[in-house]
Amino acid sequence: MIKLEIDPGHGGKDGGAAGNGLKEKDIALIISKGIKKKLEDEYEGVKVTLTRNTDIFLELKERTNKANAAGVDALISVHCNAGGGSGGFESFRHTNASAKSKELQEALHTAIMAELNPFNVIDRKQKTGNLHMVRESKMPAVLTENLFIDVAADANRLKNDKVIEALINGHVIGVAKYFGLKKKKVAKVANERDINVVSPWAKTVWEEMTKEGYFDGKRPGAPITREEMAVVVSRLLNNNQQK
Ligand SMILES: [Zn+2]
Repeated sequence: MIKLEIDPGHGGKDGGAAGNGLKEKDIALIISKGIKKKLEDEYEGVKVTLTRNTDIFLELKERTNKANAAGVDALISVHCNAGGGSGGFESFRHTNASAKSKELQEALHTAIMAELNPFNVIDRKQKTGNLHMVRESKMPAVLTENLFIDVAADANRLKNDKVIEALINGHVIGVAKYFGLKKKKVAKVANERDINVVSPWAKTVWEEMTKEGYFDGKRPGAPITREEMAVVVSRLLNNNQQK
């Protein structure tokens, strides 16, 4: 079982970057929860834990201590950027990152930019930095900066569910590629019936009862309401009285 730690940046009294009606801590949590759900729902052999799954404050040290104690196989810290300019997406590994961290960054960055392709997000490239989350974690670690909160065009993108979905999908696809995860086999769901087409077993009686005037011949597969039932019963009683 592959163990992955996702670290939604900031939280509680530390809102992170803010602007255009958005808070970094909220976006980070939404994306992180989305990654956990999609990975565990769709892929085999992966367990995702979050350093926080509510709006609480955690010191950076608490976050890396947690991941190190759990002995996870990789850590991804999810953030949004700020600082103006033209916005965009970028990712960080540590300045002296391991080859594995570099590989994780490459997988994540490539997949995320591919998913963001329809939304014209600027690629600020794969970077290195002396950041706590990627320095103090003992496992391969990458920090993603998911667009700029304080750049209006990026903030508008972050308000679009499709962009959030693309960010989630990109992380998921990157993780799956890095670990070589296999998709779960999904049982084929039987096609939902067309309520406008009568079932073969009911065809004769449906046509007969339509001819008798109990039903109007439409939507044979639709559920019946109590009031519709009352109309049918009333027609039945009237018909019997006439006979
Ligand atoms: Zn941040």
